[in-house]
Amino acid sequence: MEKIYNYINGDLVKPKEDAWLENYNPAIGEVYSFIPDSDGQDVDSAYKAAQEAFPLWSKKTLKERSDVLQKIADLIIKNLDELSLAESIDNGKPLALAKKVDIPRAATNMSFFATAILHENSDTHQMNQLAINYTLRKPIGVVGCISPWNLPLYLFTWKIAPALAAGNTVVAKPSEVTPMTAYLFSKICQEAGLPKGVLNIVHGLGPKVGEPITKHANIKAISFTGGTETGRKIAAIAAPMFKKLSLELGGKNPNIVFADCDLDKAVSTSVLSSFSNQGQICLCGSRIFIERKIYQDFKNKFLDKVQNLTIGDPLENTTKIGALVSNDHMQKVLNHIQIANDDGGVLLSGGKQYAPEGRCENGYFVEPTVFEGLSYNCATNQEEIFGPVVTLTPFDNEDEVINYANSTKYGLSATVWTKDLNKANRMSHLLQSGIVWVNCWLVRDLRTPFGGVKESGVGREGGAYALNFFTETTNVCISYD
Ligand code: NAD
Repeated sequence: MEKIYNYINGDLVKPKEDAWLENYNPAIGEVYSFIPDSDGQDVDSAYKAAQEAFPLWSKKTLKERSDVLQKIADLIIKNLDELSLAESIDNGKPLALAKKVDIPRAATNMSFFATAILHENSDTHQMNQLAINYTLRKPIGVVGCISPWNLPLYLFTWKIAPALAAGNTVVAKPSEVTPMTAYLFSKICQEAGLPKGVLNIVHGLGPKVGEPITKHANIKAISFTGGTETGRKIAAIAAPMFKKLSLELGGKNPNIVFADCDLDKAVSTSVLSSFSNQGQICLCGSRIFIERKIYQDFKNKFLDKVQNLTIGDPLENTTKIGALVSNDHMQKVLNHIQIANDDGGVLLSGGKQYAPEGRCENGYFVEPTVFEGLSYNCATNQEEIFGPVVTLTPFDNEDEVINYANSTKYGLSATVWTKDLNKANRMSHLLQSGIVWVNCWLVRDLRTPFGGVKESGVGREGGAYALNFFTETTNVCISYD
């Protein structure tokens, strides 16, 4: 069976202890490869390689760094089919989705930051007749990047691209649940000629690999995407060490549908924002609030579309709903469905595990599930389920729906459907959310600030925000005389 290796100092290497973890294909429920069960010793080797590579990498010209990152982007596209298939097998997501979204976006992440550094401005502040200040941005040194399983290569590259572009060297840890495309990525880095030690990828479990990265005295910044509780642990370690921290955490996003919206567009986009990637996108809108006047209409049209979603083998072209990422996660989602039932939710669609016929009969599939009749503050509407489960709730006015929307501890994204621009602006001001989409969902301009408020995170990624995070600022003040 295939083994995945760590990528340290430019080489593909076994973990020091020669210990391995099983890697599952969630669509068939079987182990199909092994991944390093690395520990602090491997993190130390990765750090050492990154530290040695830093002086040369940070002194390269912007054009030299840009060229190698662009080469990586080009190789991702060249290997689109292989990477998409690997992502689908490792994660359970439909192959068509990986091919259309995940892998192209990974390439775009690399080329976006490869070119961003060529077009950056730095600030100057003039003081009349006295002095001029300019802002110098310097790479930090060795930084840590820790990413989750839901959009494996997409989110992995979203962190390491700005980190490398800004001149840092990196110790990175992909999720142990979906390590395959990060492994293939390390081979791409070799082929692209990324100097050894600039990027180091250590595979393994959070406490055995992620924690040593977080605790490492000389890894000066941590960029983390994952669950809120993991983020809390990382912050507890890193904050007293005065590390720079970027935390992109969980969400429980509201999707607010006003009666004056384009109903057909709201319905079809809401199906996507509910169930894309089996609801395992931090930006999915799992709480759908619908103005009472159109509640029945929306509900009927929405259910109609949900019941037509094809669930099954991720490798089939027609599949819209693939497998959940693991058995553990499926059990967690099914448990949430049980709680929704126990709390008196009315099940409108789905609600069960699903066993497709054929090769995927033992896979981790859950039907797209829709409830109504639950209060806005019950567990189902407050806790992140991160699966194909949404609720429908009617509302009568703006104040009421703002109260519902802002009632959770999270604040990542929100969607508002209305043709009234004033209403959209009012809502955008009042929603406690890092991102508000009006009449759309998941439309992404990579220059914009990306991140959450409340327990959805600290800091912003994207464009200059990410490049600022991965650099230290020095103000240089030069006297005119
Ligand atoms: P997770 O927190 O379990 O794991 C994320 C990463 O952290 C993994 O690589 C894991 O191995 C590592 N990790 C675990 N324990 C650690 C520790 N003690 N120290 C350091 N690292 C540790 O999250 P997950 O289950 O992989 O991903 C799902 C979560 O990610 C959801 O909550 C989702 O909302 C969130 N997410 C957020 C965003 C965002 O942009 N805000 C994007 C995607 C996913």
